[in-house]
Amino acid sequence: MATTLDRSTADAFIAGRAKKLLIGGDWVDARSGETFETINPADGEVLGHAAAGDAADVDAAVDAARKAFEDPAWSGMAPHARSRLLLRIADKIEAHAEELAQIESRDNGAPLTIARAMIAGVAETFVYYAGWATKIYGETNPSPGGIFNYTLREPVGVCGHIVPWNGPLTSAAWKIAPALACGNTVILKPAEQTPLSSVRFGELLMEAGLPPGVVNIVTGFGETAGAAIAAHGDIDKVGFTGSTEVGKKILAASTGNLKRVTLELGGKSPNIVFPDADLDVAAATTAQGFWFLSGQVCVAASRILVHRSIHDAFAAKLAEHARAIPVGHPDDAATLMGPVVSREQFDRVTGYFGVAHADGAELVTGGKAIDRPGFYIEPTIFAGANNNMRIAREEIFGPVTVLIPFDDEAEALRIANDTAFGLAAAVWTKDLGRAHRMARALKAGTVWINTYLYTDLISPFGGYKQSGIGRELGRQSIDAYTEVKSVYAKLD
Ligand code: ADP
Repeated sequence: MATTLDRSTADAFIAGRAKKLLIGGDWVDARSGETFETINPADGEVLGHAAAGDAADVDAAVDAARKAFEDPAWSGMAPHARSRLLLRIADKIEAHAEELAQIESRDNGAPLTIARAMIAGVAETFVYYAGWATKIYGETNPSPGGIFNYTLREPVGVCGHIVPWNGPLTSAAWKIAPALACGNTVILKPAEQTPLSSVRFGELLMEAGLPPGVVNIVTGFGETAGAAIAAHGDIDKVGFTGSTEVGKKILAASTGNLKRVTLELGGKSPNIVFPDADLDVAAATTAQGFWFLSGQVCVAASRILVHRSIHDAFAAKLAEHARAIPVGHPDDAATLMGPVVSREQFDRVTGYFGVAHADGAELVTGGKAIDRPGFYIEPTIFAGANNNMRIAREEIFGPVTVLIPFDDEAEALRIANDTAFGLAAAVWTKDLGRAHRMARALKAGTVWINTYLYTDLISPFGGYKQSGIGRELGRQSIDAYTEVKSVYAKLD
């Protein structure tokens, strides 16, 4: 007998009154009193409400974050104590993992099985950066006699974190965990499509004993709350994950006080399949790479370059996988692909079907919406395309991929790098020399060889070109959340 999913805890949280903002340790309404709806993409119905924070609330959150930053309770906290605090946060997330996964899945339509794995990753991110809190070192530099020179790594200050809807707590944890490990304070703004999991996360942070004001949460819209964070004169750093278009706006808005900015933006990642690859594994893995989270991941396998000699056979294999993907309600244990996040995203993605047709790409499978409530789209493959078509150049952010034939390695490389983006790439070949030649020549922040989507918190993540600025994760986040101070002391 199938076990019934117990949703009572998540439902009780979601069904409660409109969610408030977390400012200085208190839960408060938006100063305007406004709230907004969040929609469940699995049925298109209203799921819940959250406070519509705007510039006035961001001001209050920044004041609270500044006070907390300067308060010895936080700035003077021993690294060991900060490490333990991060571990307590990880424990809280793990203890409430099922509830968080359900809230997030209801809000963004991610299959529950995938949301669970993502929340496990959120806890792991806090564990990983708990280890770093006691390992943030400066250097003692070789100095002439009479001078002692060393460096200190100090927190940057108040950080604004603007995150998207595809993995709300994943993106938040990648920023907040290293920021806290380094002693910064934070204002988090989740996407307007998915405010709920961040609010529950805020409650758990308070329960874990985080001092008030160290993390503040302002739900609200990008053009108001987000823009206020990007432009705020007393925010020292912005960490953003989202579209390249909005990333550019944030960079422009940040110049007033020359904020430090890290941007993790869009992609159009090439998967390059050579004829000597294990084509079954390449097809299965690449298929997963394009439909995972309904293609709503920045590293989606959205451009597949295939040697001309195997183009048709590979398209057929890929289509077999695409047709077999269990698409369904996010709560169903068998579901691997759910809806896209919103009506707007649904319209955007399905709009590309006509564009592809007009450009002359050949539809291999999919190409339609799925006739059921909610925002479901068939996994869709276009083949025989060229790299100038819009479906090969623009980030679609849906379960859609495009196959482009090539004739030799040089051409593959040229097409792969002929893009405004540079987030990720993959090479499928058994030829070791070719694999590593390509890995060096590809202009992308992550290169996979005979695999796809694999990532580890210990390794930096980010993009070349218009896929971003800076790197997240690994030691790189410690660098990104600290300023370096050089101290010279005269010894005589
Ligand atoms: P996506 O295309 O994935 O929806 P966006 O880049 O639109 O990504 O949104 C990512 C985040 O950026 C969200 O939290 C959104 O509210 C925020 N955002 C959108 N527009 C702006 C803006 N003009 N300034 C600051 N933040 C914004």
